[in-house]
Amino acid sequence: MPMLKDPSKKYRPFPPLHLKDRQWPDKTITKAPRWLATDLRDGNQSLVDPMNGDQKWEYFQMLCELGYKEIEVSFPSASQTDFDFTRRLIETPGAVPDDVWLQVLSPCREDLIRRTVQSLKGAKKAIVHIYLATSECFRRVVFNFTEEESIELAARCTALVRSLTKDDPSQAGTEWAFEFSPETFSDTDPDFVIRVCEAVKKAWEPTVENPIIFNLPATVEVATPNIYADQVEYFCRNITEREKICVSLHPHNDRGCAVAAAELAQMAGADRVEGCLFGNGERTGNVDLVTLALNLYTQGVSPNIDFSDLGRVIRVVEECNKIEVHPRAPYGGSLVVCAFSGSHQDAIKKGFQLREKEGKQYDDYWQIPYLPLDPKDIGRDYQAVIRVNSQSGKGGAAWIIQQNLYLDLPRGLQIDFSRVVQELAEKKGRELLPTEICDLFRQTYSLGQNRRFTLVDYSITPDRSTSPAPPEPGKTQDTTSLRRVFEGVVAIDGVEFKLRGRGNGPISSLANALRTVGVDLDVQDYKEHAVGRGRDVKAATYIECTAAGTNKRVWGVGIDEDVVQSSLFALLSAASHVSLPLDRPVSRQPPPVEVDFEFHKQGLTSSPSSLPAAQQPLGGMAQPMDRRMVPTSSTSWRRRRMRCNLKDGSVYSATIYCLGDGSHLHVRTISERGKTTVRASILAGSKKLTRGLPDTSNVGGSKN
Ligand SMILES: [Zn+2]
Repeated sequence: MPMLKDPSKKYRPFPPLHLKDRQWPDKTITKAPRWLATDLRDGNQSLVDPMNGDQKWEYFQMLCELGYKEIEVSFPSASQTDFDFTRRLIETPGAVPDDVWLQVLSPCREDLIRRTVQSLKGAKKAIVHIYLATSECFRRVVFNFTEEESIELAARCTALVRSLTKDDPSQAGTEWAFEFSPETFSDTDPDFVIRVCEAVKKAWEPTVENPIIFNLPATVEVATPNIYADQVEYFCRNITEREKICVSLHPHNDRGCAVAAAELAQMAGADRVEGCLFGNGERTGNVDLVTLALNLYTQGVSPNIDFSDLGRVIRVVEECNKIEVHPRAPYGGSLVVCAFSGSHQDAIKKGFQLREKEGKQYDDYWQIPYLPLDPKDIGRDYQAVIRVNSQSGKGGAAWIIQQNLYLDLPRGLQIDFSRVVQELAEKKGRELLPTEICDLFRQTYSLGQNRRFTLVDYSITPDRSTSPAPPEPGKTQDTTSLRRVFEGVVAIDGVEFKLRGRGNGPISSLANALRTVGVDLDVQDYKEHAVGRGRDVKAATYIECTAAGTNKRVWGVGIDEDVVQSSLFALLSAASHVSLPLDRPVSRQPPPVEVDFEFHKQGLTSSPSSLPAAQQPLGGMAQPMDRRMVPTSSTSWRRRRMRCNLKDGSVYSATIYCLGDGSHLHVRTISERGKTTVRASILAGSKKLTRGLPDTSNVGGSKN
């Protein structure tokens, strides 16, 4: 059926309460209410598969640990499981903390009330909760009661509870409290609610020390939250002996406003709130106790509930309810403290940086863009705050690097790295994990083992070839103003080169030394900072270079305990981004050869020509360093072992043979855990290799 163009005939606006002098809009909430967790009763009744006794047990224990002091545990007259669970709680020594009240629910029916009270025998603290629907609709349609009949029934049932509990000497071992719910309160004439509750109060005779709980449910949420607040304020102002009454709320979420309704109604005078963790309950659920508690917390008011391990709470709730917490549920949702968008990430990162700079402690005033709550307060770490996918900007990956590797990347390097990150995110078509981003960073800037340029040995000395002014007699020659000389051995792709260069300092002398092997870099920018503190402090150096004669900018990163060495590493890291001039051999060494592999899984056939034309590549990629091989001479074979991580998680190792000028490459063996199971073909990785390629090997066969 189509939605109605004019729904006003079918649906009517809820008539507001004309409370002209309402006080609640000017009030603020300055303390936590009394909480009643009804997950095990109201929440449980709404589940497709209600909890079994053990699940209820685990849930109950968790509620106690979180700090709930009033817990509605069951509807004992309606279910044997509930009755048994209540008995188990009471009869198991130490199961219920001394300061926790067990609450159970019963309808206004004599036999059910008797059974309900039976279930509580021997409890330390017990609240008997009875309810009676009071709205005109329910009285007329469901019960066919007059107003007077309803009042009489409520009072009679209250008197019965009283006679079975606090008036029964055999029940003296239990501290009894009583709760009455005019069910459908929010849809009931407010004056009639008062009349019913006055009769109930008279029957129970509460005291200031042990007040009666009048629970005012929005059994179905039918109006805007301000109307509920008006109704609650009206009740608070018109019920007599207010000091002997605890006004309790029980908002359902049919209009999605249960949290707002509960908050406004507290402003209107309510003392207590009933709800469920993450808002489980009939239809759209009860009010969410997690949101209410953390709303208070982020206003600087302690909720008296400890959600510092919210992850565990979510696990228990999901397991027992068999309902997932929505990823965007307030506070608890898995995506709530995560930022994917570049601008959000940038702002959050700046916020954290300022906080650290200002030396703010964990409990200092919290002000971070986009984060109303410190994730650490609910047991989340900052690493999870910023997550990186292809939508993320430079700030996201930089944040991950800062959190994991403690490196504070300069803006230019952030941009440089974000391109690499984005490429990988797009290739994978998903979010990148922090470990993947860190690995990518190490790989991109040659921080791991696979450095193309390795500093083997070096010294930096003053350049004494120009003589400074001679020292005064008896004094030491001052060489601090002299230029520096780098002298040392750098391995390039595993082949050692003796280098020497002069410059104004260590970096420029190494840069000049590298020119002798055809690596021509101009240093554009240099930044460094300390990593760590005290004895473990290291220097992180960032160098931005341009390849001579081009606009190509490359970044290098170096980390070392020694500041000078760190900067030399950074320059070599930058150098690894510049392709070597292969057509202009820098020495008698043959130029390095880059090869790519494609791995094919197949049976062990001996003839290469039997390879099917379109085999499914397994998508293997050798590590970048491993892909470069330097043949030792034009006539001898150079052997190299490589590891290859495949998409399916398996790892293969291969022995590769390379001949002379790189024109012949052969895969000798490919093995998986020692077994030869896979063939590989070699694709040309550089144009120089097209001659004679692609080539396939014989498994375990001869070199040719
Ligand atoms: Zn309810």
